[in-house]
Amino acid sequence: MGQKRIIIIGAGGVGAVVAYKCASVPEVFGEILLASRTKAKCDKIAASIGDNRIQTAQVNADNVPELIVLIQSFKPDLVINVALPYQDLSIMEACLATKTHYLDTANYEPKEVAKFEYKWQWDYKQKFADAGIMAILGCGFDPGVTNIFTAYAHKHYFDEMHYLDIVDCNAGDHGKAFATNFNPEINIREITQKGKYWNLGKWIETEPMQIHKPIEYPNIGFRDSYLLFHEELESLVKHFPTLKTARFWMTFGQKYLMFLNVLQEIGMTSIKPIMYEGKEIVPLQFLKAVLPEPSSLGENYKGETSIGCQIRGIKDGKQRTYYIWNNCNHAEVYKECGAQAVSYTTGVPAMIGALMILSGEWSGKGVFNVEEFNPDPFMKKLPIYGLPWNEEIDKALPIEKEDFC
Ligand code: NDP
Repeated sequence: MGQKRIIIIGAGGVGAVVAYKCASVPEVFGEILLASRTKAKCDKIAASIGDNRIQTAQVNADNVPELIVLIQSFKPDLVINVALPYQDLSIMEACLATKTHYLDTANYEPKEVAKFEYKWQWDYKQKFADAGIMAILGCGFDPGVTNIFTAYAHKHYFDEMHYLDIVDCNAGDHGKAFATNFNPEINIREITQKGKYWNLGKWIETEPMQIHKPIEYPNIGFRDSYLLFHEELESLVKHFPTLKTARFWMTFGQKYLMFLNVLQEIGMTSIKPIMYEGKEIVPLQFLKAVLPEPSSLGENYKGETSIGCQIRGIKDGKQRTYYIWNNCNHAEVYKECGAQAVSYTTGVPAMIGALMILSGEWSGKGVFNVEEFNPDPFMKKLPIYGLPWNEEIDKALPIEKEDFC
C-alpha cells in the first residue's frame, strides 16, 4: 500500500494511544503529525514514543482556517480526530476544503446543549461524496467495535437480528476518589442526560439512570448496569432495520454514583455559564479542570473492561443467540504503552479504521458509519493489535438472566 501521511488531532488519553499504535506500523503510517491545543502535550507523547517518529504542532481545532493551513502544509492522506465531539464539524469542514479523508470516534455535539445525534454529520454525506473523499464516524470501541461486532453477527450468524443489547463494563479500580475514563466534560454530559432505547420502531425515553439491573460479565461477574442512550444505537437501528429492540448498558460503581449525585446536586455538572469573580465560567468545565486527566489514570489501574454485544434473532428459521465481546486489562495496556484500558480500547480501533481506509479495504465517497463496511478485515486485525475477541453461539445470554433483577 506504500507509506502514508496522517494528522492526529487531540493529545489526550486516546490521542496518545492512536499515536503510539500508528507509530508501531511504520510501513503504513510513514509520516505522523500529532496536533492539539496544547503543543507541550503532543511533544510529551512524541518523546515517549521516541525515534522522531512523530512530528507535533499546535492547532485550535475550533478554527477552520487554522485547520486548513495545517492540513495544506502537511498534506496528509487522512485526518484522525480524537479531540472532542465539539470539534467534529470544524475538522470535517477543513477536510472538505482540502479533500482529505476524515475519521473520528464520537459524534458531534454542540457545546451549549448536551445532545448528541448523527444528523449534523450525516448532513455532510453529499458534500463528501462530491469531493470524492470519505468520512468514517464513530471508530472507537463504543461506538466503533460494537457496531462492527453487530455487522459481523449480521453477516455470519443471522438472517434477521431482533434484539441487541450492548453491554459495557469497566470493572477497573484506578484508586482515585472520583475520575472519569475519558474526557470528564463529555462523559458527565453523556451520563447525566435522559436514557433512551429503541423499541418497536420508536425511541422510549427514561429518566437518567432510571433502569438498571445486574448483568454478568465474562471473567468479572455480576455488575449493576444502567440503561443509557449511546450514539451507536441511532446508526445501528438505521442500518439494521429488523432490530425490534436496541439498548445500551453501562456499569457504574456505587461510589462513583454517590460522587456524581453530590456534584449534580450542588450544580457542578451544569453547563449553564455563571459569573465568577467578574468572569463567565461553566461549572462543568471548571470541574473538568480539577479532575484527573484520563491519560493520567493508567498507573496502578487494576482490573479490566468488558464490552460486547448480545443479540437474539433468527437463523434458518430457528431462534439464535449470539454474544461477542472483548475484555481488556488496565495493567497490561499500561505496561504496553502507559495508557488505561478505556483510552486503549478507543485508540486501537481508530488506528485499525485508519488502516482500513489507507489500504483501500474500506472505500467509498461520502459519510459512513463503520457497520456499513465489510467487518471481516477489521475483525482480523483486532487481536493482532491488542484487542482479542470471544464469541458464544446459542447459549443463554447474560442480559436475560433475570433472576437477579
Ligand atoms: P482528553 O480530554 O484526554 O483529550 C482531548 C484532547 O483534545 C486534549 O488533548 C485537548 O487539548 C484536545 N482538544 C480539546 N479541544 C481542542 C481544540 N479546540 N483544539 C485542539 N485540541 C483540542 O479526552 P480523551 O482522549 O479521553 O477522548 C478523546 C475523544 O475520544 C473524545 O471525543 C471522546 O468522546 C472520544 N472517546 C470515544 C470512545 C469510544 O469508544 N468511541 C471512548 C472514549 C473516548 P488540551 O489537552 O489542551 O485540553
